Amino acid sequence: MAVADHVDIEQFMAGVEKRNPHQTEFIQAVREAAEDIFDYIEDKEIYHRYQILRRIAEPDRVISFRVCWEDDNGNIRVQRGWRVQNNNSIGPYKGGLRFHPSVTESVLKFLAFEQTFKNSLTGLPMGGGKGGSNFNPKGKSDNEVMRFCQSFMTELYRHVGADIDVPAGDIGVGAREIGYMFGQYKRITNRFTGILTGKGLEFGGSLVRTEATGYGAVYFLQNMLNHRGDSIEGKSAIISGSGNVATHAAEKILHLGGKVLTLSDSKGYIHDPAGIDQEKLNWIKHLKTVKRAPISEYADKYPGATFHAGERPWSVICDLALPCATQNELNGEEAAVLIKNGCIAVSEGANMPTDLDGIRVFKDAGICYAPGKASNAGGVAVSGLEMSQNSARLSWTEEELQDQLKDIMQGIHDRCLEYGLKDDGTVDYVKGANIAGFVKVADAMIAFGVC
Ligand code: NDP
Repeated sequence: MAVADHVDIEQFMAGVEKRNPHQTEFIQAVREAAEDIFDYIEDKEIYHRYQILRRIAEPDRVISFRVCWEDDNGNIRVQRGWRVQNNNSIGPYKGGLRFHPSVTESVLKFLAFEQTFKNSLTGLPMGGGKGGSNFNPKGKSDNEVMRFCQSFMTELYRHVGADIDVPAGDIGVGAREIGYMFGQYKRITNRFTGILTGKGLEFGGSLVRTEATGYGAVYFLQNMLNHRGDSIEGKSAIISGSGNVATHAAEKILHLGGKVLTLSDSKGYIHDPAGIDQEKLNWIKHLKTVKRAPISEYADKYPGATFHAGERPWSVICDLALPCATQNELNGEEAAVLIKNGCIAVSEGANMPTDLDGIRVFKDAGICYAPGKASNAGGVAVSGLEMSQNSARLSWTEEELQDQLKDIMQGIHDRCLEYGLKDDGTVDYVKGANIAGFVKVADAMIAFGVC
């Protein structure tokens, strides 16, 4: 095999941009990983020769399909669905489904690319994938959501399988949607196999899956602080989002003795200087998952709390910040405000919530900063454990799963240290996660030869 011509990062990124025009989120995610990986592989000829990064940044396949459904007024509606199967070198494709009007091919390609590194970091045998639709479940009746999910699965079922590709939930896809999709898969194929995770406990779901991403992000935060001889106890935290990840991150902060000051949704954020305790949190969970109403109602219910329409919470003074809503929700200016206000650690529950400028600000300030591909991996890790339980046809106890989640998050933290520990004792978790995630996938790809 010929020795490869070495391109530099700018030549590499120029190629990515040319092949993926206008896919800004995907290009951003590739650059973020490539900056660290290029440094690491500089003197490692084999990774150049096998064009590993070039191949990981080209999805194995992108499946796009039409999804037709009928609304309650009898109108025919047409949406677009996708499944991006990025890389299955270390296990079946695995990654969530997102239903949100902002979903595009670029968003799903960035998520599938990041998922490849994240799944590798968990130490479990899972490749990277992601999917979803530009369908907006907000304001739709249960029957409309059911008809959409059934139609979506009527196409997706050909592309998934317990050893092929196992989707889960993400933004806009929770227990209700997973139930409808699993039911449709079973109906079409007459098979009861673990083709989705995040299932209800009655039909093959795993305990702790619902809590896993949020809890895991806080365990990761705890590991970072412990590494610096500090802890969560007595610290104030600001959190964005009020969905699955945000509410469970808030819950774990409370368990570990911290105080939660904010949560948000797409309309704005609430600030409760008295702290959002477990009772208030339970009220929010009900508000968002049963009533499906905006977070602004919190300020009507709890006097002393304020609602800030159209704003994000990053100007509130805090020790800890957890962005848990969506991508690019924290920019360079906001990162600088957080640092000025004394924030010492950021753990991302969402995927790529901090933009490239924000990442640079956190890195330069030398605070504990965990990228989502490391800190939010608890969800997919417990999904991996759900797959194991489905294959073995048994269910583990809550205690066993909580212990495994903690161990996995500790393991990810330690893998980040392996490649991210700096001479001054601080840790570049972005670099650590990118390289540790890359090496395992890359070595498997080399074992397979050129394919
Ligand atoms: P949910 O749908 O449960 O909640 C999403 C939350 O984010 C809601 O509060 C929503 O507000 C808010 N939000 C969504 N889009 C925007 C936007 N454009 N601007 C401001 N707020 C927004 O999703 P999850 O909690 O499951 O996911 C949150 C993040 O965590 C995503 O980045 C996801 O990819 C990531 N993640 C999720 C995992 C999981 O296990 N669920 C696993 C790993 C990562 P509103 O209610 O108004 O829509």
